Amino acid sequence: MPLPYVPTGAVPEPVVELCRRFQQAGFRAWVVGGSLRDILLDRPTGDWDLATSATPKQVMGIFEQVIPTGIDHGTVTVLFGGEPYEVTTLRGEGGYSDGRRPDRVFFIDDIEGDLARRDFTVNALAFDPLDGGLIDPFGGLADMAMGRLQTVGVASERFSEDGLRVLRAARFAATLEFQITDDTQAAMTQCLDVFAKVSPERVRDEWLKAFTARAPSRAFEVMRATGILGVTCPELMQQVGCVQNSYHAHDVWTHTMVCMDACERGPIHRLAGLLHDIGKPATRQLSDKTGDYTFYEHERVGAGIAERWLQRYRFSNHERDQVVDLVRHHLVCYTPQWSAAAVRRFIKRVTPERIDDLLALARADALAKGRDVGEELQQLEELAERVQQELAAGAVLGTRDLAISGRDVMQRLGIPPGRRIGEILEILLQQVLDEPALNQRERLLGAVDALGRGEP
Ligand code: ATP
Ligand code: MG
Repeated sequence: MPLPYVPTGAVPEPVVELCRRFQQAGFRAWVVGGSLRDILLDRPTGDWDLATSATPKQVMGIFEQVIPTGIDHGTVTVLFGGEPYEVTTLRGEGGYSDGRRPDRVFFIDDIEGDLARRDFTVNALAFDPLDGGLIDPFGGLADMAMGRLQTVGVASERFSEDGLRVLRAARFAATLEFQITDDTQAAMTQCLDVFAKVSPERVRDEWLKAFTARAPSRAFEVMRATGILGVTCPELMQQVGCVQNSYHAHDVWTHTMVCMDACERGPIHRLAGLLHDIGKPATRQLSDKTGDYTFYEHERVGAGIAERWLQRYRFSNHERDQVVDLVRHHLVCYTPQWSAAAVRRFIKRVTPERIDDLLALARADALAKGRDVGEELQQLEELAERVQQELAAGAVLGTRDLAISGRDVMQRLGIPPGRRIGEILEILLQQVLDEPALNQRERLLGAVDALGRGEP
């Protein structure tokens, strides 16, 4: 008799079939972990995690295609019907002495023992799709119903075993929109030294997962309150209480949180929202004239801080370039007086690939001022339209789009390859940005002649 908790059909047929194969071979298998949690919460499920009574060797005997992904820890990946499934043998764990991984794992034969080593109650359930049995030894279902996140067992012990867990707690608070219980959150603040041992790659991956939440600020508020944010990024911590000026209702931190939540174009956009004002605490100065704070060049200083941080946390070069560019250009000082040439220069500076992200960041940044920004938003809308018009008109934005090439410049002036050629093309591009009609071969060659004669 299936229990009502797991809706019929929620576990896809191939997963049920996989469990049946285990049964036919004399073993058992359960759906566990995030996939079960997400079914129960009616959220989209990611990867399917399975627990089994079969040892990795036995799993390899049952299925044809098995990849020994983490065989030392009892985990293999079974390819079944073309899909990968992570299958882990029921296990217990010996002590943790490095705060990262158990000193030893040993296989056990009861599912409850396996669930006991898991991090949070909502992640410590198991479901057998063949008999419909749901195993919930730690009250995971009740916590789900209450939107509550707490550890399995004594929080301080569980967090000191594995430093990653505090960050997972912050992430789940955001993605599941759950409240961390007081006991669990209090224990998080005491485990900063263990958290400090977590590898940068794992921190990066958790942050990226947190960014998928509707409001990632929920994760970052937990990181701030518990102090783990200070371990990963002290510059963000300095934003807390960093009062701004008359344009802003919030301190830099709250402004940053609201801005990040409003950046909805994917993880890179979230990251840009999070880091856009990272240069503010370091550049804040009180103006003698206005008696208000200024943040002179904070976008340039911030781009430098962001670049070093993204490198340290092993983001790819491409991700780093995107975020750093968005931070560097996030101050859009548009006024309706901008000429068409100014709009084209703006697109060139930001690049057409980044322009939509940047305009959306500028919108989020304006909204996060917490003041009436109707006029600013309207102007950004106008800028976005003018940008679209220029792009649709095929505006020349790079030297490669010019009607002549470097070779033409060399021939015309009789000079050898070298830096000067690039400089001349750049000057021509500036002229074409001002006056698009100049982009014709004959007119450009005339302009090259003039440059050759030393005319400006
Ligand atoms: P998601 O897949 O959405 O990131 P998840 O909870 O499935 O979330 P996984 O890393 O896939 O996370 O892990 C699967 C399960 O393994 C978890 O649900 C949990 O039961 C257990 N688990 C994962 N990481 C830890 C950990 N650091 N400490 C204890 N148990 C863990
Ligand atoms: Mg998972």
